[in-house]
Amino acid sequence: MRINRALRLGIGAIALTLATATATACGGGSDNSALDNAKGGKLTIGIKFDQPGVGLRDKDGTYSGFDVEIARYVAEKLGVQPDGITFKEAPSGQRETLIENGQVDYIVASYTINDARKQKVDFAGPYYVAGQSLLVRSDNTDINGPDDLKGKKVCSVKGSTPAQNIEKSYPDTQLQTNDTYSLCLEGLRAGSWDALTTDDTILAGYAAQSNGALKVVGKKFTEEPYGIGLKKGDQELRDKVNDAIEAMIADGSWQKAFDKTLGVSGYQAPEAPKVDRY
Ligand code: GLU
Repeated sequence: MRINRALRLGIGAIALTLATATATACGGGSDNSALDNAKGGKLTIGIKFDQPGVGLRDKDGTYSGFDVEIARYVAEKLGVQPDGITFKEAPSGQRETLIENGQVDYIVASYTINDARKQKVDFAGPYYVAGQSLLVRSDNTDINGPDDLKGKKVCSVKGSTPAQNIEKSYPDTQLQTNDTYSLCLEGLRAGSWDALTTDDTILAGYAAQSNGALKVVGKKFTEEPYGIGLKKGDQELRDKVNDAIEAMIADGSWQKAFDKTLGVSGYQAPEAPKVDRY
């Protein structure tokens, strides 16, 4: 009897372990569609946690930035109030996986729409067009654009379009990739790298926070149309999110969101883009 019971308990434990392992392998995400979750008043949204002006988690646990404003506006149009939103960090190299595994309902995280990513996820938007640029220490005088990067140590982030662009178009650069831009930022300040490259939106926030220690140089040298990443094939969700972006631009909320986030660092608002219903 006792052996039987121990055996049963053992099998139970193994079954439990397997169930947990399966959930973890699937990313622990829910099988519900984003719109089902929204109907229940809850959404999990991927944003950046370390990009002031774009997507930031403050020390007190509050969230701010242009992407956060976009995420909240869209959520509200889907029937979800701010207190029904759980923000989840979505580092550049993990965004497609987070969407594919259902760990987030959608992602608003300085996420460039491109064909390679469209193989795995769909995009609503664009809601903004940024461009790649360079951040250097303020005493730097020899880097003024991407053509000056030859032999220079430049930091960017794994899985980001700026890192891919440097590898492809400026192969003489000594590119180093980290998981997050904040790691690049520390290294730039400490002198480990000569420059940090990513979108001008993100760099403007870092420069503004640096008390004059860092500056953005040169003109933007790519176009980075930001989209809201969502599960591939969820046409209903994509249509609703596109409607929400258009409404946000039309009713003035887009401009207001810009002015209180990216606009604060003195960065000039470009025209709002036209949503692409591909
Ligand atoms: N927009 C670029 C990208 O999606 C760079 C910014 C980022 O890494 O989030 O890769």
